[in-house]
Amino acid sequence: MQDPNCLFCKIVKGEIPSNKVFENKDILAFSDVNPQAPVHILIIPKEHIPTIADISEAQAGLAGQLVLTAKQIAAEQGLESGFRLVFNCQKDAGQEVFHVHLHLLGGRKFSWPPG
Ligand code: AMP
Ligand code: ZN
Repeated sequence: MQDPNCLFCKIVKGEIPSNKVFENKDILAFSDVNPQAPVHILIIPKEHIPTIADISEAQAGLAGQLVLTAKQIAAEQGLESGFRLVFNCQKDAGQEVFHVHLHLLGGRKFSWPPG
């Protein structure tokens, strides 16, 4: 199911171009247009799910695929010394695009706590 007004659904459909890094029938990964690290890739379900708070038990496998895809891409990108995975969920966390996406960030050191 897709939302015709959703930016990332438009990327899934190819209506908006992206720099694709990985794709299978359920998942798409592409470069973030405004990278916050030397490697900044977004891993998304093709299905429109607005936030992580909307993920159901039935979608547990899909959620796992997002993480495993991130792990695989991190290895391909040579991020052996570390990387960060982030789901921003809803407005207080700074979510701007309401289609679930996992940020894969790497290629520099990150501080903690996050801003
Ligand atoms: P968030 O704040 O977690 O919702 O993150 C949304 C991310 O989507 C930001 O890092 C944006 O830079 C990124 N973004 C917005 N538009 C595009 C686009 N057309 N292609 C790739 N990344 C995008
Ligand atoms: Zn969407």
